[in-house]
Amino acid sequence: MINEIRTLESNARMLEPGVAQRDQLINQVIAYSQAYLEGVNESPANYPSVDGRGLYESPIAEEGIEIEEALALLGENVDKSGITTTSGRFLGFIPGGGVFPAALGDYLAAIANRYSGHFFASPGAVRMENMLISWMADAVGYANKPAGNLTSGGSIANLIAIVTARDTHGITGDEVSRSVIYFTEHAHHSVEKAIHVAGLSSCLTRKVRVDDRYRMDARALREAIEADRSAGLNPWLVVASAGTTNTGSVDPLGPVAAIARQYDLWFHADGAYGGFFILCPEGQAVLSQMKEADSLVMDPHKTLFLPYGTGAVLVKDGAKLYASQNWAAAYMQDVPDEIAEVSPADLSPELTKHFRGLRLWLPLKLFGLAPFRAALSEKIQLARYFHEKIQLVEGFKVGPYPDLSVVTYRYLPERGSADAFNELLTKKIQEDGRVFISSTRVGGQFVLRLAISSFRTHLSDIDEALNVLDWTSKWLVGEGY
Ligand SMILES: *Cc1c(COP(=O)(O)O)cnc(C)c1O
Repeated sequence: MINEIRTLESNARMLEPGVAQRDQLINQVIAYSQAYLEGVNESPANYPSVDGRGLYESPIAEEGIEIEEALALLGENVDKSGITTTSGRFLGFIPGGGVFPAALGDYLAAIANRYSGHFFASPGAVRMENMLISWMADAVGYANKPAGNLTSGGSIANLIAIVTARDTHGITGDEVSRSVIYFTEHAHHSVEKAIHVAGLSSCLTRKVRVDDRYRMDARALREAIEADRSAGLNPWLVVASAGTTNTGSVDPLGPVAAIARQYDLWFHADGAYGGFFILCPEGQAVLSQMKEADSLVMDPHKTLFLPYGTGAVLVKDGAKLYASQNWAAAYMQDVPDEIAEVSPADLSPELTKHFRGLRLWLPLKLFGLAPFRAALSEKIQLARYFHEKIQLVEGFKVGPYPDLSVVTYRYLPERGSADAFNELLTKKIQEDGRVFISSTRVGGQFVLRLAISSFRTHLSDIDEALNVLDWTSKWLVGEGY
């Protein structure tokens, strides 16, 4: 038996490379990542024709491969396929980015593998995450005892908030089908998905009318609530957008909060995209009333420029989040009851989880807040600049003045279907790859969106987008479309 264990050990020890081997691995990875970042400004914003199929030619096998080969597979099949989300000319959907120190934070988090679910297991890691949550709560203006959680993203953050609202309002059993939820047609689809996952699919939902800037019409909200109350229903939740994904519009947070308070509804504000704009004056001007929401979502992997995998939920009365999410089990009995700090595992469905705090803390500490505030102001001002300039390009018509950093616009061809033309324009620009734009439907019409939320997007990128739009639309017209 001993011999067999020894043989197994010598094989198992391959899982622990020695210092020289680690050096070699690290150097290769650094060389790859440095080359990647050196090329990021020149690389296409889209590689529509690479689909990653080459990975299948190197199946998972008994024998390992060299790091050079692994990096080549990554480079050819993954990092050069689809949309280049790291590009400053990626202006579709909601751009991310990935500030460099966050990668180092992930590296360090993985090396030490701190258990950040429970305070007793890693007091420092949990304090770091709680400190980041407190910083966000302060930035928003949440007073008293808020609580929150760093999540994998906005969808899970919305889910946690909605489950907390459900538990607080006791929406269970027969109550569900007479309970009413309010949001607009521009609410993110993850809100509806969260309602479904939370077991609330049979709640009644009302799409509240929007104004001409796609913001919730507060009067229509009040009317809908009153009508539902008169009909004997139970209005209990309103979800406002602190920046819609579709158009960047900010719902009237103050008036919605007042109505929610008057009729005893939970007020959830989804700021997955827009929330962090509160850090800059232009954003503060439209987001100052976020602090009135009972719960909030904001995504560091969107407007704090982190790599994907970091969202956040904040609940104004932290005890409600704790009441909804804390749980006990026999195998957890060594977890002390009396703790100095609340643990992430008691504020989220997750138990064991990625130590997300480090990838957020390191960039904030190394850079300080000032460059983040500047980048956020810059994004909003670039959106205003684009809104002004695209109107001057022949054939283009713009949507409303942007609340944040999304601009809607479309080309109006002299003849033929505008929807079809704009669809084709989107497709041609995506294929071209110099810039990446995406589209949506607003009021039944096909419209183009320019979303500016990468820390790498600067004036020259917006000028490039204007050139590409001008050039491509003229080319399509020339081709007879
Ligand atoms: C992106 C987004 C979400 C979903 O967040 P994920 O991080 O993609 O899960 C929710 N709401 C809004 C407004 C968003 O922009």
